[in-house]
Amino acid sequence: MFFKSAMDAVRKGLARTASVFGAGVRSVLHGRRVDEATLNEVETLLIAADVGVGAARELVASLRSEFRAGRMERGEDALEHLKLMMKARLAPAPGMTREIAVTSAKPAVVLVVGVNGVGKTTSVAKIAQSIQASGRTVLLAAADTYRAGAVAQLSVWADRLGVEIIRGATGADPAAVAFDAADAAVARSVDVLLIDTAGRLHNEESLMRQLVKIRDVVRRRIPGAPHETLLVLDATSGQNALVQAAAFRKAVDITGIFLAKMDGTARGGVVVAIHDALGVPVKLIGVGERPEDVQPFDPERFVDAVFAPGAATLSS
Ligand code: GDP
Repeated sequence: MFFKSAMDAVRKGLARTASVFGAGVRSVLHGRRVDEATLNEVETLLIAADVGVGAARELVASLRSEFRAGRMERGEDALEHLKLMMKARLAPAPGMTREIAVTSAKPAVVLVVGVNGVGKTTSVAKIAQSIQASGRTVLLAAADTYRAGAVAQLSVWADRLGVEIIRGATGADPAAVAFDAADAAVARSVDVLLIDTAGRLHNEESLMRQLVKIRDVVRRRIPGAPHETLLVLDATSGQNALVQAAAFRKAVDITGIFLAKMDGTARGGVVVAIHDALGVPVKLIGVGERPEDVQPFDPERFVDAVFAPGAATLSS
């Protein structure tokens, strides 16, 4: 197994969400009989955890109809029902996979997009680490040439991980860097080319235009590329993450989400809102600042960890 995906690692990364949201819901339902008031309390907690108003209403409507039909009296049953529904809701749509860039194409190209500050550079390192740990070779392309620090920061990660990197000078044309990297990836016969892109330009339109240019240039060298476009979002940013996602979707086809900083939020329910709004799977979650602090997102494990008994209750 290449992820430290033992259940306790998952729990640790979700400790804040579990101790505020999970423990909150448990305390409303545990040992109580279900009534309209408890269901309303559950709805409030779901909304407070950034699940989204629509999803919270639907989840509670399903609980309510079970309750009103006389099929659900105990709080424990309500909790189990809620967990099952959340798991089902987070299941990937048919034909979608949570694996990253699993394709017969070689090199498979993964484009990583997202705005500055969401944790993109760190997440690129984590993606590189996880691909490498799955036994595939990775080449990094540092195409965020606008930020002086970005290329340097990614180079440090590349060194630490023992991954090769293609970079351009600060201010170089990112599409040219991406093209060179595509060339190198083919020549060196690597399994995966991982391209980091700029997270901020003078305006949104130029940023999106540049992403399209990078995509087209790489596609010219490697037909069918990119095979995966991962959008990095910050789990602590709530509604803002959804606004960012909407902007990126206009320019590129997002195939998966990397949800960074899950360890930094008590509102991990945002994963439901993101899944609902985008219809693409959350593939990886960031649970700390080190390259190994990454977990494949697994709805079963996620929901079980959030509602695990024994999570210490913190006040939010
Ligand atoms: P970028 O500007 O989007 O490239 O963001 P960086 O990768 O430089 O990260 C910004 C800050 O967030 C840094 O201090 C990172 O260590 C931190 N960070 C990134 N991912 C995570 C995460 O999953 N958990 C935590 N706690 N911090 C993270």
